[in-house]
Amino acid sequence: MTKGHDVMPDEDVKQAITAAVDRNFDAQVAFTQKMVRCPSLRGQEHTVQDLMAQAMARRGLSVDRWKVDVNDIKDMPGFAPVVDASYDNAWNVVGTWEPEKIAGRSLIFNGHIDVVPCSDPDRWTTPPFEPRLDGKWMYGRGAGDMKAGLAGTLFAFDALRDAGYGPAAPVHFQSVVEEECTGNGTLACLQRGYRADCAFVPEPLGPQLMRAEIGLIWFRVHVDGDPQHASAGFNQVGANAIEKALHIWPGIKALEAEWNARKADHPVYRNHPHPIRVNLGEISGGEWTSNVPAAAVLSVRVAVLPGDDLADIRREIEDRVQRAAQSDPYLAAHPPRVEYHGHMAEGYVLENAAEAEAVLAEGHRSVYGADLTEEVTSAATDARFFGLYQNTPGLVYGPICEQPHGIDERVDLDSVRAVTKTMALFLAEWCGVERL
Ligand code: ZN
Repeated sequence: MTKGHDVMPDEDVKQAITAAVDRNFDAQVAFTQKMVRCPSLRGQEHTVQDLMAQAMARRGLSVDRWKVDVNDIKDMPGFAPVVDASYDNAWNVVGTWEPEKIAGRSLIFNGHIDVVPCSDPDRWTTPPFEPRLDGKWMYGRGAGDMKAGLAGTLFAFDALRDAGYGPAAPVHFQSVVEEECTGNGTLACLQRGYRADCAFVPEPLGPQLMRAEIGLIWFRVHVDGDPQHASAGFNQVGANAIEKALHIWPGIKALEAEWNARKADHPVYRNHPHPIRVNLGEISGGEWTSNVPAAAVLSVRVAVLPGDDLADIRREIEDRVQRAAQSDPYLAAHPPRVEYHGHMAEGYVLENAAEAEAVLAEGHRSVYGADLTEEVTSAATDARFFGLYQNTPGLVYGPICEQPHGIDERVDLDSVRAVTKTMALFLAEWCGVERL
């Protein structure tokens, strides 16, 4: 084979590629730990994005690093509202590989670099941003969700190169912000003009093909109270905003059972045990123990089924809040306000992706010696942007993670190694390879 000659990888090439994943795996684990050490909470993503940009540049990729600008994306479908959040440190990084001659299908690897808060850091066995190895597990906030998968995309590329090949089509490695709250980081990649024949998102939903994901809406319910001294006489106690907010909550929570009942008619979620969760994620209010609280806010995350119209769901939420308020004379006279402050995501079903699915299934079979299974998840991912707004299959397949968003989050490194091999084989098969 001569240099630059494009080929479909044969068995020998595939073996060389998976062997290279094994050879580089210690370095891959060390790099993932480095990523976890950067606490890329919202507003603090820039440090780890510098690390990603360096890692991409070192691999000879051309690096595009830009700050997400709400003005660029606010009119695009899929945009989620940004409320009291700063994008000052919201840098996206994309590394691009260009082959000598394009012979295969192009690919986007996409992963989010942002992580969620640590719940109670004191309750972790070891500090959340000090990645700890214990047997096959790596512990740390973001280790599973989803720095291990994102690191894996770069090491999948390394494996091809170490075997003496490069992808025979353009490949974009996207390290994005904002997945956990809006998805606006990936949306900004669409706006920037990145396109490919397939997108691959190694979220830690396990080494299975994700067939469908739910959508999400975040909203806040603002309740105003009537502040007075807490010792005021019985008839003048005012209105306690926190108690009034708690009065509204059961009505909102009831949506969970009602919306789950609708799954019976859903073509994909019919057999899912409990796709919809209505989560009261934050509650705030009050300022002084002896004051009647003047304000309270409930922050809620709801899931929606693919195909649900978000405008209809918003109307249902607002109706529900007002109906709950009607049952209280004070709230009826002082109606709460609903505000949307993050996720405004439609659900997504992977369709018309037979070619990409077949390539993934073949790579998975080579690594696991078993058929690829599929799952329908009650999570949401950025894959929806590619599928819904770019007519590009958005595959989700990744390592095994326990306690994502919880205490002692951990990722199974055996699964990381295997998934990296599958991704490397996918990269080789989907894009074709050229001899370096
Ligand atoms: Zn994730």
